[in-house]
Amino acid sequence: MTLGGLVSLLALVSANWRVPLGLALVFVLGILYALHISAVNRRLLATQEELRRAQADQQRAFADLEAANRGLEAERAKLRGITETAVDGIFLLDSEGRIVYANPAAERTLGYGSGELIGRDAHLSLATPESRDQAHLAYRRFAREGRSRVLGTTRSLVAVRRDGSQVSVELSIATLRLDGQQHAIGVMRDVSARLRMEQELDESRENLQSLMEENRTGILVLDAQGRVRFANAAAESLLASGEQGLVGTDFPRSTAAGGPDGHPNEIPINRHDGAPGTAAVAVTETRWQGNLAYLVMLHDITERKAAEQRMQQLAFQDGLTGLPNRELFSDRLVQAIELAQREGKGLALLFMDLDRFKEINDSLGHGAGDHLLRSAAERLRALPRASDTIARMGGDEFTAIFYDVPDAAAAEGLARRLLDAFDEPFDLEGTAFAVTPSVGITLYPSLATDPDVLLRQADSAMYEVKRRGGNAYRLFSPQITLVRRSRLALEKELRAALRDGDFALFYQPQVELGSERCVGCETLLRWSHPTRGLQLPSGFLPLLESTGLILDVGAWVLDEACRQIRGWLDQGVEPLTLSVNVSPIQAEHSDIHALVTQALERHGVEPRYLVLEIAETALFSRLTQAAGLLKRLAGLGVGVHIDNFGTGHASLAMIKQLPVKAVKLDRGFVTALGLDSADEALVRATLTMAQGLGKRVIAEGVETAEQLAILRRLRCDWAQGFLIGR
Ligand code: C2E
Ligand code: CA
Ligand code: CA
Repeated sequence: MTLGGLVSLLALVSANWRVPLGLALVFVLGILYALHISAVNRRLLATQEELRRAQADQQRAFADLEAANRGLEAERAKLRGITETAVDGIFLLDSEGRIVYANPAAERTLGYGSGELIGRDAHLSLATPESRDQAHLAYRRFAREGRSRVLGTTRSLVAVRRDGSQVSVELSIATLRLDGQQHAIGVMRDVSARLRMEQELDESRENLQSLMEENRTGILVLDAQGRVRFANAAAESLLASGEQGLVGTDFPRSTAAGGPDGHPNEIPINRHDGAPGTAAVAVTETRWQGNLAYLVMLHDITERKAAEQRMQQLAFQDGLTGLPNRELFSDRLVQAIELAQREGKGLALLFMDLDRFKEINDSLGHGAGDHLLRSAAERLRALPRASDTIARMGGDEFTAIFYDVPDAAAAEGLARRLLDAFDEPFDLEGTAFAVTPSVGITLYPSLATDPDVLLRQADSAMYEVKRRGGNAYRLFSPQITLVRRSRLALEKELRAALRDGDFALFYQPQVELGSERCVGCETLLRWSHPTRGLQLPSGFLPLLESTGLILDVGAWVLDEACRQIRGWLDQGVEPLTLSVNVSPIQAEHSDIHALVTQALERHGVEPRYLVLEIAETALFSRLTQAAGLLKRLAGLGVGVHIDNFGTGHASLAMIKQLPVKAVKLDRGFVTALGLDSADEALVRATLTMAQGLGKRVIAEGVETAEQLAILRRLRCDWAQGFLIGR
């Protein structure tokens, strides 16, 4: 019933029924209506609720969709990010092999700009010309069948870059189905840098290998126990004793014990020619396969050692004669003494010096001197036994150690043999020269036991021989040392005397026989010793000469004589002619000509006031040179007298050629006058001959009136002596 029907019904009811009934009816109707309304309402509410729920569902689905969308976007961005930033090149090929995607790394590796690879045929653009066809075929098969041998593997191949250059890559391919089409996804890595590195590594490994193998240095690695773990070829050949090789064998412990300091040690080795040699060993601590080990280097030093030995030999050998030198001699002497002491034997030490060496060296030159030394060494070398040593100490000094010499007589016998070796003259530049030695001897242990003392003793003994004229031997005696010592002291005093002006000249008058007129004076050297008083030349002249001091003293004498003449001139008295004695040493070693000139000039003295006395013996030894000297001296205008005439071997015939004014008859003849008529005859003959040659004769050492009378009778020109004036 509709609402209109209900109202009509209600109106009918109300019209027909009294009000109460009408009211009840209205009430019922009201109730009914209300009931109807609420049902409608309820239905309406339910519908509304459904509607709202559906709406919420829709909203949720929407949000889900949005979220899903956002996730997809993020996923895509992530994927893009990964591919764009990937170090490896990633590209996608379609079924035709065309590139549909390439990431920046792929573009970079292949030298393309962004997007430039898209649409290119991979095999045309990227494969090398040689592999192009094969790559194409392989890809076609892959696209057709969806499988390939290369799937899932990584291949090394060469790709072509845009500029045509090639790049080594590692490529792995995976299959991907897109839109029902077979695609391929490639991941590519540029390995050229790695390959280069690997190649370099290989090369350096090879280099190292060849270095190790071809090196002439033996290289070994030992473990901590000293067992060989590695040995290169050089080490094998230096040390190997057989086929089995070194690895696994024990290396000599002592060298490994050299340890980390690597102190070089030496070990015997076999050289390639089979000869034994020596290797220096250097050991350094190292690690081998993670463990402590030793790196051992063996360096063949055989040649270096040999060279060192040669050097050492040279260092101990006299270069000129090849004999042992002073150093080696000292060494041998010490050894000989030790041996002699152990075995209870005696030694003889000989010291030898050549007598005329300096003269020969000076006059014939060093070439001849060297030749003489070599020849002398040759003769000496033939003398000793193997246990003996002959050495050259330097200059013309030689030494000899003779082993097992029981006594002085045996030593002297050896010295005689040494002298005998010089009997034959030496041939120097075609001329035979007699050269003699002076030999000093000493004995171990009877005279000394110390090597230095022995050497000094032999030297002193030799010096003593020399002092007595040489060409002899002499056994050392303590006396010699004493003599030598006093000689050394005297030499010191003489030097002081020269410095302090303790020398003086005395003048002995010379008179003309007949007129008894004083014609001159001979200057005689005196030494006024601070404690011993006035000393005569015989006590010190030999030492002056042997030390060469005579050169300075002689110069002083000349100067002093000229000063004296000057003094007389200054006093206004007619000066006496002064005769100055000239030592043969002076004549030989100083420029006497220059000395005389200077002395005369210094004091403004005319040369005619000066006479030089030169001993006959000095003339004789070197006549030709002396003749030249005398001529030059006479050329100065000074007089030249021959002193001690008759004591040497000079003849008047010789003197005839010399610019000599007078000869001085030696005191020996004068002393003999009146005692021996033979001497008188000799003097007479000399006088006659000399005067015949135009030389005057001066008699020396006239002590008695009788001597003077005889000299007068024999018509001697001049005389001097204690009788006339000291
Ligand atoms: P000499 O040239 O033969 O000198 C003569 C020596 O005989 C001097 O000895 C003299 O004092 C000594 N005498 C002189 N008259 C007599 C005499 O009647 N009886 C004796 N028994 N002797 C007499 P002195 O001075 O001892 O000189 C010795 C030698 O020393 C000299 O011998 C001379 O060779 C050398 N001499 C002296 N002075 C010098 C000098 O200034 N330079 C050099 N180089 N040698 C000198
Ligand atoms: Ca004299
Ligand atoms: Ca004299």
